[in-house]
Amino acid sequence: MSSVSSPTATLPPRVAFTSFSAAVSRIQRLGDNFARVTFVGEELAEFHAAGLDQRVKLIFPLAGLGLGTFPRAGSDWFSCWRDLPDNERCPMRTYTVRAMRHESRELDIDFVTHGDSGPATRWVNRADVGDELLIIGPDGRTLTEGTGPVGGVEFRPGNASRLLLAGDETAAPAIGSILEHLPADAVGQAFIEVATERDILTIAAPAGVTVTWLARDRHSAAEHGGPLGNAVQAWVSEMVSSDDEAHCAALAGADLADVDVDTDMLWEVPATDGGRAPCDGLYAWIAGEAGCIKELRRFLVRDTGMARDSVAFMGYWRTGKSEN
Ligand SMILES: Cc1cc2nc3c(=O)[nH]c(=O)nc-3n(C[C@H](O)[C@H](O)[C@H](O)COP(=O)(O)OP(=O)(O)OC[C@H]3O[C@@H](n4cnc5c(N)ncnc54)[C@H](O)[C@@H]3O)c2cc1C
Repeated sequence: MSSVSSPTATLPPRVAFTSFSAAVSRIQRLGDNFARVTFVGEELAEFHAAGLDQRVKLIFPLAGLGLGTFPRAGSDWFSCWRDLPDNERCPMRTYTVRAMRHESRELDIDFVTHGDSGPATRWVNRADVGDELLIIGPDGRTLTEGTGPVGGVEFRPGNASRLLLAGDETAAPAIGSILEHLPADAVGQAFIEVATERDILTIAAPAGVTVTWLARDRHSAAEHGGPLGNAVQAWVSEMVSSDDEAHCAALAGADLADVDVDTDMLWEVPATDGGRAPCDGLYAWIAGEAGCIKELRRFLVRDTGMARDSVAFMGYWRTGKSEN
């Protein structure tokens, strides 16, 4: 994934990433387009679960070759994998750890199924108990003290007093996990857009955080991202208090470098926990289809004047492009 700006990448990681062997132990259909796959494996005992929106890479088997070509040994596995010939390189895709149960060495991933158009969705459509793949994630044995990032977590609200979480179905696992990890007195709003009413899931959230599901099939002819964009715009317009309006108005219209989401994946996350949250103490975390996230970035930063260090914008996938 290329990034527009990923400041944390300049800090040394506090933990090395390695591959963990795992097999499917359970598959649950959660809705029309969601499947929860539970993986189990002794090696997962060393997986460093950081919670929140922690991402991992999944390595899928190649027809006829399985996972045997994947370079598991050595710290330079990524360049070794990248340099393999196309027909020997197992597909790699990014997913969110929905839950981790160390005591039983189990890790849940919630997959959005979107037909048969990519290796990940093809794999989950055919997955069965016992099927194996590799999970690339932080190896707890290598964890060091320090201030660098741990385990691909981008949700960093600092001392913000109010939260906005917004995303499409691919961000639903991350939003669900973030909500479960928030302190009980957290305050805010989560918007999750999904394809159908039957994709609305039950997730736990602190009493002060309202969770609103937006099913596209409830909105006639709704384009992907349309209901989410409308809901976020309405909420932000109402929530930014009049005291902040002058401040935000001063920031609004600021130059915002354009992002070509067809060549660069939109990935813009605040560098630190600094706690600066000028728009009424609001911190926003926004993820999903890159074109929709780009529109929301324009609205929040350019039109509303939210400071860029108070918002994490992440393009999780791009219409018409595979993640390679
Ligand atoms: C940090 C991060 C965390 C993520 N977490 C999750 C997660 O927990 N669960 C999850 O399901 N996804 C998650 N995603 C998104 C997932 O990585 C992509 O959807 C990925 O492209 C799926 O791979 P694929 O092999 O199925 O399709 P690809 O080979 O990548 O793409 C094939 C085609 O399918 C289209 N496509 C890809 N995804 C979708 C989709 N969701 N709906 C419709 N069309 C699509 C592409 O535009 C392309 O045309 C995450 C992405 C990131 C960056």
